[in-house]
Amino acid sequence: MQPRDLSDHVAYEAGRGIEEVARELGRDPSEFVKLASNENPHGPSPAAAVALRDAASSVSSYPKAAHADLTAAVADRWNVGDEQIWLANGGDGAIDYLHRATLEPGDTVCVPTPGFAYYGMSARYHHGEVREYAIERETDFEQTAETALESYDGDRVVWVTSPHNPTGSTMPLAEIERLADETNDETLLVVDEAYGEFADRDSAVALIEGREGYDARDDIAVLRTFSKAYGLAGVRLGYAVVPEEWSEAYARVNTPFAASELACRAGLAAVDDEEHVERTVETARESREYMRETIDAHVWESEGNFVLVDVGDASAVAEEMQRRGVIVRDCSSFGLPACIRITCGTDEETERAVETLNDVLADLETDGDTDADGEPAMDPEAEVSDT
Ligand SMILES: *Cc1c(COP(=O)(O)O)cnc(C)c1O
Repeated sequence: MQPRDLSDHVAYEAGRGIEEVARELGRDPSEFVKLASNENPHGPSPAAAVALRDAASSVSSYPKAAHADLTAAVADRWNVGDEQIWLANGGDGAIDYLHRATLEPGDTVCVPTPGFAYYGMSARYHHGEVREYAIERETDFEQTAETALESYDGDRVVWVTSPHNPTGSTMPLAEIERLADETNDETLLVVDEAYGEFADRDSAVALIEGREGYDARDDIAVLRTFSKAYGLAGVRLGYAVVPEEWSEAYARVNTPFAASELACRAGLAAVDDEEHVERTVETARESREYMRETIDAHVWESEGNFVLVDVGDASAVAEEMQRRGVIVRDCSSFGLPACIRITCGTDEETERAVETLNDVLADLETDGDTDADGEPAMDPEAEVSDT
């Protein structure tokens, strides 16, 4: 017997881990910094780490009270009803729930390209089909209602990533509202704000709730995660904020206890530690400004905790940086073979990444492997890697 036809399904390509890379290169993990997966360089909130340790002795129980408490805390943070918060196993889990709640077999979802791979993977698991709209390099990856409407064709779900991974661009709320207005009544617009904390913008929750002068509506949901600004990627915790009209569906789509006891306890401690989030956001702002000012290649403006850099040949540059101890994300798998994405690190990590990248760019150019500036080779003797 075989699994069903999975030929449309592709494996998720995660940023590479230090252990994995060190083992492969036969080197010591301590020689590397990893700026490939948009993780929090400060780690989790210390309060969350304590909560995880304290929760260890109670993991024999199913998470019930902790789930209810965290739901209430998150609802309070957004000033919405508890039933509008759909806690899940990571933001990815919330993506699944929204698809479970919307897709009939053969329904389509419309996703940005380049973009986050899991939207399409999840839609396919739920027997949906995937269509794409393009975010264009020619317009510096600008996102307007038109960006999505150009390809929109009555899809059941339209995904907007703001700030967008991997480019860092955002879609202004007025444009999100216009997009929701101009799509069918039966189209759910999901605004993925996995990087929302890093952007100096209002959340699209304002559109759901009818705040800031917008009319309340039932066709937008917002996705958030504890993986990025809260530094809890390893515990897997995220959620959707949905319109009141969608509240009842949660009990019908929720995998029982998918947000674990450990995740809920850590999340409860983390939402109370505003200082940790503020420090994280401040570090990301400084880091991305520093990278824009000092990298010897084009760096797009970003509102996330990462920047996209035009390096000419992403796979050569990423591989050589890795050899020199800095792991970044080659964006070829996003359909951007000229770009790498660098996560904002601590000051020290960011400086090391910039120095390494600038050296690699200079050396590869000298070597004639790339022509980032179209400059002729200056020093044919230069020592470069075997890549
Ligand atoms: C990281 C990320 C998520 C969610 O990640 P989880 O770790 O599953 O919470 C969702 N969308 C985008 C665009 C992301 O980059």
